[in-house]
Amino acid sequence: MQGLMMDMPLLVSSILEHATRHHGDAEIVSRRVEGDIHRYTYADLNVRARALASAFTLQGVAVGDRIATLAWNGYRHLEIYYGVGGMGAVVHTINPRLHPEQIAWIINHAGDTHLAFDLTFLPIIQAIAPLCPGVKSWIAMVDGDRQPSVAGLELVNYEELIASGDSGYRWPELDERTAVGLCYTSGTTGNPKGAMYAHRSTVLHAYAAALPDAMGASARDSVLPVVPMFHVNAWSIPYVCPLVGAKMVFPGPNLDGKSLYELFEAEGVTYAAGVPTVWQGLLQHLRSNKLRFSTLTRTVIGGSACPPAMIDAFRIEFGVDVIHAWGMTEMSPLGTLSRLQLKHLKLDENAQRQILAKQGHVVFGVDMKIVSDDMADLPWDGSTPGNLLVRGPWVIREYFRGEGGDPLVYDADGRGWFPTGDVATIDADGYMQITDRSKDVIKSGGEWISTIDLENLAVAHPAVAQAAVIGIAHPKWDERPLLIVVKQPGAEVTREELIEFYKGKVANWWIPDDVQFVEAIPLGATGKILKTKLREQFRDYQLPQ
Ligand code: ADP
Repeated sequence: MQGLMMDMPLLVSSILEHATRHHGDAEIVSRRVEGDIHRYTYADLNVRARALASAFTLQGVAVGDRIATLAWNGYRHLEIYYGVGGMGAVVHTINPRLHPEQIAWIINHAGDTHLAFDLTFLPIIQAIAPLCPGVKSWIAMVDGDRQPSVAGLELVNYEELIASGDSGYRWPELDERTAVGLCYTSGTTGNPKGAMYAHRSTVLHAYAAALPDAMGASARDSVLPVVPMFHVNAWSIPYVCPLVGAKMVFPGPNLDGKSLYELFEAEGVTYAAGVPTVWQGLLQHLRSNKLRFSTLTRTVIGGSACPPAMIDAFRIEFGVDVIHAWGMTEMSPLGTLSRLQLKHLKLDENAQRQILAKQGHVVFGVDMKIVSDDMADLPWDGSTPGNLLVRGPWVIREYFRGEGGDPLVYDADGRGWFPTGDVATIDADGYMQITDRSKDVIKSGGEWISTIDLENLAVAHPAVAQAAVIGIAHPKWDERPLLIVVKQPGAEVTREELIEFYKGKVANWWIPDDVQFVEAIPLGATGKILKTKLREQFRDYQLPQ
């Protein structure tokens, strides 16, 4: 017997239509590359997104074509999300922090036919245009009177493109499995690989992300995604906000502490999201200028482990709750978030802190487990680490163009699971904690040492701004941990003091053998510590005897 309910496809255009009808006057505020603040509403967004879809249709863009962006967070980028996605084409967001050659490689692999860019990235466009013969149209996302001209390269103006379209355009009723977005992994090992999101997976993911114990935004929130729209769709905030009717605030190119703080205050931001490294700049700005947030109540932090010291700083010093989240490009990206449950409210503060520091509980829709190298299920006891596997309706089934063959591993029942490449523990309540990426974990005397734990402890020292731990080859133990530290500006600390700082906090055999002080730790395109680079940098380093 079949259910007798309507079969309405889950399409991203329906999110925008909902926002327009029910939250049409909710604001979208953007700091622009032009320098000023732009404001309009969901109703305005819909008009321009339709015009854009119509203009692209007139240009011959068809369902399934890939349209690339190299752009900051802003209203024009949002118009492309909905205009391109709504018409059935694919928005391919590219991370401008990648090397231009890698960007060109990604564009050619994706087969992008059009590329829209913010003016900041004009030098990248000039460098890659000769390498990307498949791109028919380079679109400058800027007011007509600021349109640049470049010798030998014809640029289209975004505003003229919109003006050529018809805002009476009607969204097509697509199959919900139609592709809507494309993101490449950052490719720290090998070439980047493309995750191709569907309308269905995107809408389901946004629904789940909007739940109170997930991202939990509402029509009473003013949301500022610091996380870029080129980093896994800004963790789906561009879909969640219109779905719930939240105000959106876009920081554009200005991601320094001062600019962010000003925007938070001016726009009454209640909710933000970003990777740990960007919050460091903001917290420093607040401390050195003795500032407070007047409206911010919570922020999602993920992308790499959020040190408990940062969670404490937000909560105790600034009265802001941190929602620690874990996910990946291949998961659209949400997997888990750490929120307390009813039974945890009775616990003392320290016990609550420990729960909140974990990567957290799955969102309904995602299934996870930890397994040994030979795929045996491992216990959920909060202490046994294993390879973390996931499955769910917004988890990747295969990479774009089948790159790398079948990425899944199969259990005894023949069900496919995506191996995350992360090593984690899961406790009896289902709270997951990442101990490492499998390629970063330190194997010492046959046991594993978590580099994330050691880094979290190091940054709790007041003189430490940033810390990374890598394994160094050791004749007896295989590998031993080396702590690499960037000191806080003006602060002093010695190797011995840092080693002493670990005593009593971790098992003795976990304590790093040595400390090296550096000016800066290399970060990748999404603000994560580049351990591959650090390992190269310390290739000839010898541990003290
Ligand atoms: P890549 O950096 O390879 O392109 P993603 O940006 O999708 O991929 O990053 C996914 C990875 O980032 C996860 O597999 C995990 O290793 C790491 N990560 C994300 N969030 C967290 C977190 N809260 N704690 C620890 N690691 C995290």
